[in-house]
Amino acid sequence: MSRVPVDHARGEELTYLQALAEGRVVFQVCDDCGSAVWYLRTVCPFCMSAALREHTAVGTGTIHSLTTLHRAGNAARVGDLPYTVALVDLDEGVRVIGDLADADNGPLAIGDRVTAHPYPDGVVFEALERNAR
Ligand SMILES: [Zn+2]
Repeated sequence: MSRVPVDHARGEELTYLQALAEGRVVFQVCDDCGSAVWYLRTVCPFCMSAALREHTAVGTGTIHSLTTLHRAGNAARVGDLPYTVALVDLDEGVRVIGDLADADNGPLAIGDRVTAHPYPDGVVFEALERNAR
């Protein structure tokens, strides 16, 4: 996981991390244009409206892309090497980044269905079902 120093977070980042600590993955929906937005922001990136409302994701989604890191992105992750990070399209229409848990029966791939598990400093995706390949 990212191991974000929570004591340094503020604004929307702090809101997101507090939701993770409560066991929720949150995103926003714009009341003006209807767009789903992740990460949390103060204004909608599609119409610049400030009418963003927080929603809790169900947590299911599809792997959009993934990569396995053999060099840590920061010093806090060195002990996790190698680890896999994925971009996942949640069913609510937002693309979220998180770690990809090891699957019992081989590596996951683009198109596989996963479920998001919130942790205080990030999201870990675990296998739900595999895409036919
Ligand atoms: Zn909008």
